[in-house]
Amino acid sequence: MSFSTSANAEPVAEIDVLVIGAGITGIYQLYRAREAGFSALLLEAGGGVGGTWYWNRYPGARFDSESYTYGYLFSKELFDEWEWREHFAGQPETERYLNHVVDRFELRHHMRFGTTVTSAEFDEATGTWNVVASDGTQHRARFLIAATGVLSVPYFPHVPGLAEFVGESYHTGLWPETPVDFTAKRVAVIGTGSSGVQIVPAVANQVASLTVYQRTPNWCTPLNNAPITPGEQAQLRADFEAIRDVLNTSVHGFLHQPHDGAAFDDSRAERRAFFEKMWNSPGFMKLTSNYTDLLFNEAANSEWCEFVAGKVRSIVEDPEMAEKLIPKDHRFGEKRPPFVTGYYETFNKPNVSIVDLQATPIVRVTERGIETTDGERDFDVIVWATGFDFGTGALLRMGIRGRDGLALADHWADGPTTFLGVQTTKFPNLFLPGGPHAAAGNNPRYNGDQVDFVTETLVYVRDHGYDVIEVTLEAEERWCEMIERNVALSSFTDKSYYFGTNIPGKPRRYLLNSGGRPKLFKEIARVHETDYKAFRLSQSASPVSPPRQAAAAGER
Ligand code: NAP
Repeated sequence: MSFSTSANAEPVAEIDVLVIGAGITGIYQLYRAREAGFSALLLEAGGGVGGTWYWNRYPGARFDSESYTYGYLFSKELFDEWEWREHFAGQPETERYLNHVVDRFELRHHMRFGTTVTSAEFDEATGTWNVVASDGTQHRARFLIAATGVLSVPYFPHVPGLAEFVGESYHTGLWPETPVDFTAKRVAVIGTGSSGVQIVPAVANQVASLTVYQRTPNWCTPLNNAPITPGEQAQLRADFEAIRDVLNTSVHGFLHQPHDGAAFDDSRAERRAFFEKMWNSPGFMKLTSNYTDLLFNEAANSEWCEFVAGKVRSIVEDPEMAEKLIPKDHRFGEKRPPFVTGYYETFNKPNVSIVDLQATPIVRVTERGIETTDGERDFDVIVWATGFDFGTGALLRMGIRGRDGLALADHWADGPTTFLGVQTTKFPNLFLPGGPHAAAGNNPRYNGDQVDFVTETLVYVRDHGYDVIEVTLEAEERWCEMIERNVALSSFTDKSYYFGTNIPGKPRRYLLNSGGRPKLFKEIARVHETDYKAFRLSQSASPVSPPRQAAAAGER
């Protein structure tokens, strides 16, 4: 890193690659950029490493992807030396793992914590990004890589009186580092998505009372977590290459084997037995290894939903309570389903109750608690498990401006437009791995594919003597059309936050890559075959530093 002086005499750090975000994607991006020989720095708003696994430290937070499929695969030594304790690790273990990786590969020295990016502006003359952070530091980066995550801006609903509550108030996605003491407290949890259904059973035994404010129940099925036995540890190590190959190529980035039959190939009794097997299977297997037509054949989906509803009725002793917990407005797979540990059982405890917000909506938050249309309840703690501004939330809050001072927020006023989810037109040298147009599946695998692609692209740019790269409009339009076309093939509907519909005023757009990993791989292969024709490559008029290998110049 070198330093120059800006017009107002503040020192400016000059760097090849500036990464924003120390989550699983940003850490890997920093590692890859440094490994490729770039000077690199990472800025992180949080006080430590982890991203999602730093901020979401609420009780009960844990993986629902198998631990060893979520961790990094770039180093066999790392895979061998880190022993995950459980098939689905809890947040503390994941945070420890990510800290271990950062220290193991000497990355911490290249990270600044507690540093929120407040503006990032592209300078056309030098082809660099001027980035200002909340601590007053300024950075000039050749390439800016925003690895700010899709679930990083917590959403608080616009409920009157939110600020008036005098007790403790927390959002699951903004959990404090100091552990929250729930002992003998009257606690409200608002929201029953993946976060809400994790925290409810985790605190139910400590609290005086727990009131769950539910607007819409979800199709929750068991996570079926277990410790990893020494025998399994040894097998994981022995199978590393095979595991890595599957994870690097499988459609969803899991190890799960897809099922090979459709629902009505089986008799009713066989389907019951198969559903029982699915119910007892780990995590996402209920999606990835279920009947091939489960998500698209209405009759098959209904039968599975009826099976799950039967399970809920058999676990929850109070039939009225059980009915409240069974979704009536959406089928399985229309939304991202949560996976749970002891969730339904929690509602058998005498100190746990549920408020159906469809029947009695929230009127306001008061000084003492929450008022719904059937009265006020007093609380010591309110937990907001009300979700996130998915996909674009963080990117649109960083003051990013591209060519001609164009704000990213204006460029994406109707929703994000990208190529491969890694670049957008008019914002040269800006990359967005792990951002909008990600794939539904095991996130680190897809985001890792994007990081690998971004890194090899930076190397290509450098080694061909260019210093500015911008995706063409044609490539971006082709990618966005593919996404729009394939939305119809997705099981998700706009009841899912994947369409941005949970945030008032947000454009309704599909925020994932509906073509999934296969389309990502296909387009990356095409980029290689066509020698990066999807991008416009140029050399800035007055570069801040000469290209390392000046083989070519001018525009292409
Ligand atoms: P979420 O799935 O968006 O759930 C938000 C919850 O808040 C929903 O129940 C929603 O109800 C409710 N809500 C929102 N606004 C409300 C309002 N005004 N009044 C009452 N209720 C309101 O958010 P999340 O649970 O944080 O999960 C987000 C994603 O994070 C997950 O889908 C998953 O991808 C990830 N995650 C993963 C894990 C894991 O196991 N690895 C754990 C936690 C989170 P409606 O449904 O009626 O809108």
